[in-house]
Amino acid sequence: MIERTRTNGRQHSTTEEATDPHLTKGQPVGPGVAIGPAYIVRDDPSPEPEIRRSEHTPAQEAERFTEAVNRSIGQLVTLRRRIERLPEESQVEIGPLLEVYRRMLGPSRLQREVMRHIEDGLTAEAAVHISTDALREQMLAMLDGQESGTDEAAALRRRADEIREIGRRLIRNLLRRAYVSLSKVPAGSILVSRTLQPADAALIDPSRIAAVVTEDGGTTGHSAIMLRALGIPSVMGAEDILDGLETGATLVVDGNEGTVRIMPTPTELRRARRQVTAYARKRQELGRLRRLTSRMASGEKISLQANMELPAELPLVAQSGAAGIGLLRTEFLFLNAETLPDEDTQFDIYASVVSAMGADPTTIRVLDWGGEKPSEALARMNGNGEEPEENPALGLRGLRLLLEHPHLLETQFSAILRAAAKGPVRVLLPMVTVASEVIAAREIYERVARRLKRKGVETGDTLPPLGIMIETPAAALTAGALAQHADFLALGTNDLTMYTTAADRSSAEVAALCDPLHPAVLRMMAETITAGLVERRPVSICGEMAGDPKMTPLLIGMGCRAFSMTPSAVPRVKQVVRGMRHEDCRQLARRVLAETDAGVIREMLEGA
Ligand code: PEP
Ligand code: MG
Repeated sequence: MIERTRTNGRQHSTTEEATDPHLTKGQPVGPGVAIGPAYIVRDDPSPEPEIRRSEHTPAQEAERFTEAVNRSIGQLVTLRRRIERLPEESQVEIGPLLEVYRRMLGPSRLQREVMRHIEDGLTAEAAVHISTDALREQMLAMLDGQESGTDEAAALRRRADEIREIGRRLIRNLLRRAYVSLSKVPAGSILVSRTLQPADAALIDPSRIAAVVTEDGGTTGHSAIMLRALGIPSVMGAEDILDGLETGATLVVDGNEGTVRIMPTPTELRRARRQVTAYARKRQELGRLRRLTSRMASGEKISLQANMELPAELPLVAQSGAAGIGLLRTEFLFLNAETLPDEDTQFDIYASVVSAMGADPTTIRVLDWGGEKPSEALARMNGNGEEPEENPALGLRGLRLLLEHPHLLETQFSAILRAAAKGPVRVLLPMVTVASEVIAAREIYERVARRLKRKGVETGDTLPPLGIMIETPAAALTAGALAQHADFLALGTNDLTMYTTAADRSSAEVAALCDPLHPAVLRMMAETITAGLVERRPVSICGEMAGDPKMTPLLIGMGCRAFSMTPSAVPRVKQVVRGMRHEDCRQLARRVLAETDAGVIREMLEGA
């Protein structure tokens, strides 16, 4: 056991903590509170290649590399078998990640890069090291100019982590070095280490490890996602926690607050025990919700669907209890692509998603390219070397780009219509401002459908509904007129807020101004929902606010009956839906829409 001194150089975030040498603050990563003895892992599990130039022939190095790839694939198969024994929600987080690793080990850009360096005379280790570093740097370079807390930034950071992780696995296999074994950790321990790799996190048995604390890492990395999925209370970024700490010291880890208390007093221990019990009760309640219907206390049915950005998220959607996919963003097909995805490639992906959803509908949105995301293929198509647009958000974005390059739209429509033979599909057009755009897109849509029919290609029995995103003030204020040409409306409140408040959704400086509770945004949403009712067109909301349970009563009160959100938000929103009466929501909406100050509106929602 240790006696900690007050001069251990620990970083503290508040004055109170600065005077308490037994408390360390980090990032709250996995919710819950745990009490137990520390188990310290000090090894750094990431060997780096020492020799760069090979004494062997490139063919011999290529063979070593292939062997390491095969060994890595074998380990992933074993890992997959292991996670099948974990709780359902852990499987749905870790499964897709293992799939990403597996794909990177197949024919991929990573493989091509490694082979190129091997041909240049490098050892396989050096080739892997250099290739993964370069790919990671490219990913991280894309973060420049992005607001750090956005979903896009988090996805890029995760992708960079994945590349590093697969590189480490390959190098360990090339050097034949083993992983740090976590199986020897005594049951009930709190694992404390400098870092934790996702593959190591996947090996943690949540029934043995009470909590995890690391010095490095943040809340959006893959290790963090896994620890959350495994339901392990965790704190990452707990700087210098290892200084002077010894295995066996009692810790209290608060994964909600992001704190670690070392050697708690009897009073602190009693409080921690009460928190452990309260959290266990709350988890039980949310788990139960997934299987319950999404019906209000007053009886109205509310449709809760999922937004999806990658097919790998399918298990998450299935486990969330979502009644279909309300928004499948198809940008992933074009992101970082060297060539445009052809019709068959697109069909395979759409068909697999539609089939997996069974009788629940899948809403596929055609490409919403904003000009600011990197795609070699689209850049080439738009003419390499041309000056980038000065205001990409106001330029050739979404449907505008597709109508400028109709072959893109035709290919995507054709793939989607073929996938419609596998189950119910809806098609969504992004970034609409005028009816002529919808009319032009519909003409192409119907022409493609006729062509498929003529050729005898199997499609759905009826033409899937063609809807539009309402995400510009122009579209919101003329939603009634646009609805004449569209089968359904989907409120994209992320962009609607950006374009209404003239505040970039990805800029940290104006984040406070980009507020979906600005009365102007709410009025435009109300206008759209009313237009949908008048024109008898279904209206859904698929921007981020749809997944915020605090917004749910207001949005229902405004007349919305369909929401699409990030899968993990579905149970929390459902809980609110089931607890509300429709009349109360209507009254709240009436009061909110009469208000002119976003701050006051926020207080009204907090109190609802
Ligand atoms: C939106 O703008 O609200 C939306 C759902 O689309 P995206 O976030 O993909 O722009
Ligand atoms: Mg949008």
